[in-house]
Amino acid sequence: MNRCPLVAGNWKMNGLIVSLAEIAAMRTVYDVGLKARVELVVCPPATLIGLALDIATQGGLGLGGQDCHAAASGAHTGDISAEMLKDAGASYVIVGHSERRTDHGETSAIVRVKAKAALRAGLTPIICVGETRAQREAGEALSVVGRQIEESVPAEAPETIVVAYEPVWAIGTGLTPTPEDVAQMHAFARERIEAQLGGGKSESVRILYGGSVKPGNAGELMSVANVDGALVGGASLTAKDVMAIATAYR
Ligand code: PEP
Repeated sequence: MNRCPLVAGNWKMNGLIVSLAEIAAMRTVYDVGLKARVELVVCPPATLIGLALDIATQGGLGLGGQDCHAAASGAHTGDISAEMLKDAGASYVIVGHSERRTDHGETSAIVRVKAKAALRAGLTPIICVGETRAQREAGEALSVVGRQIEESVPAEAPETIVVAYEPVWAIGTGLTPTPEDVAQMHAFARERIEAQLGGGKSESVRILYGGSVKPGNAGELMSVANVDGALVGGASLTAKDVMAIATAYR
């Protein structure tokens, strides 16, 4: 199965209008050769999506949101719907990031409804799963991630969905699992996605690794079996670093 790798940058709550210059700078490295090997998506704060649209589109980059509400519209002050993200120019949306699960108490059931909302609006959900340090130390990493996949991935989802394995203890810490642990988790995740979707669809689903991906470790992590790209936080804020990561696919 030929899965086109995806490198998605999650800017989190970072980025002002001046930061659009980083997206412009990404375009200069994202040449025809690299475009043929890896898809590149930036998920800036929602305030910047509309402003980034022309800059990103001209360079062949995609845009994504970082979260969406389950409803299409309504009395939900401060929330943003998948339809609004689509309207602003996004084609992806991250759902179930561990910071949302922790800061906003999002359960896997909520994440699944958000993933369905993304699909309803014509967005591709990037569904995040991952164990905490305590869960890994207790030997529960596989069972936790298996349950998150079962509860967060809608059974009726198409094979175009993206799943991101992000061990919580690796996010923003500089720590990463060993390539062997990543290989074990990604193979397991594909099995669990197949159990959810059926019909061999999991073979087409891209499973990203996320958690302290940097220019220095991207080559090793991206070459692990069943790793179909990266969800990148801190290192996606500068064109220099994110393009060095994407260049692992050149
Ligand atoms: C993330 O927040 O999705 C992430 C992977 O962050 P970082 O790359 O900074 O660890």
